Amino acid sequence: MTCRECEKKIPDFIGRRMDYLGMKRFLEHVDACGSCREELVIQFLIQEGMARLEDGDVFDLQRELQEHLEEARRRIRVHEGILRVGTMFEVLTMAGILGIVVWILL
Ligand SMILES: [Zn+2]
Repeated sequence: MTCRECEKKIPDFIGRRMDYLGMKRFLEHVDACGSCREELVIQFLIQEGMARLEDGDVFDLQRELQEHLEEARRRIRVHEGILRVGTMFEVLTMAGILGIVVWILL
């Protein structure tokens, strides 16, 4: 992902409008790229900060961004866990079918 693509995705990330793959690529870029991480912090502060000012809430946005990032990472881990289990089942099913075929043929 390029910096330009990454910047365009920042509002989607903040608004949680991202699919698993987009989120994964986005986080990989943000982890590796200091200027995009900075851009994310700024946009998060602006977007969430404005919303909070309207609500009149007390807020700790730096921490909230950390939590937002953590949540995204957690979701990626869960998703990858499901993918792994899915692959395992596929392999087991294939092995089962193969076993039956061999059993019939012998
Ligand atoms: Zn970048």
